[in-house]
Amino acid sequence: MNRRIARVSLGIGTSAALAVAGTLAVSAPAQATYYSGGMPTRSFSVKTVGVNGEWVKYFDTARGNWNNAGVGASIKRKSSAKPSFTAGNYSQSWYGLYAPSGTRAHRSFQIKVNASTLWRDTGNIPKYDKWVRSTSTHELGHALSLADNPNTSKVSLMKHSRDRSKVQTPQPYDKSEVKRIYR
Ligand SMILES: [Zn+2]
Repeated sequence: MNRRIARVSLGIGTSAALAVAGTLAVSAPAQATYYSGGMPTRSFSVKTVGVNGEWVKYFDTARGNWNNAGVGASIKRKSSAKPSFTAGNYSQSWYGLYAPSGTRAHRSFQIKVNASTLWRDTGNIPKYDKWVRSTSTHELGHALSLADNPNTSKVSLMKHSRDRSKVQTPQPYDKSEVKRIYR
């Protein structure tokens, strides 16, 4: 009986841990900077799934943004990896979604980027490119244990209120948080 209850509440916790980067305010510890749904280390591999070369390029830019940030991140693209990155035209309101699975020690995740809402709210290619890069890099920030909407007045890639045309890469605040979390 107790085990069953525990399993039920674990299930609720897992779905509540979905981190959403859109207009929806969701649950990841809203005030905290640390997000427990991230990877246990800063070195991990991700596969791209069902996307064309254009999207592979967006993903490579996003992981390059982290790998070149000087925070010890090494995010590789590897077809045999369990964590995945994909994109599509989803009917939901979010721009990007990070869904973790497993325990932190055995973490995997799925990132989805929503071309539909991003195009709807940009409407031209240069702006769309920037917003896609901002969103993709933001979602990888969750894999590096950064929570949504950190409680800071500093500029952050993880804030929903950021200017996605300007803030596409990890900001000083984001970098120091990743270093602090994984030190
Ligand atoms: Zn987010």
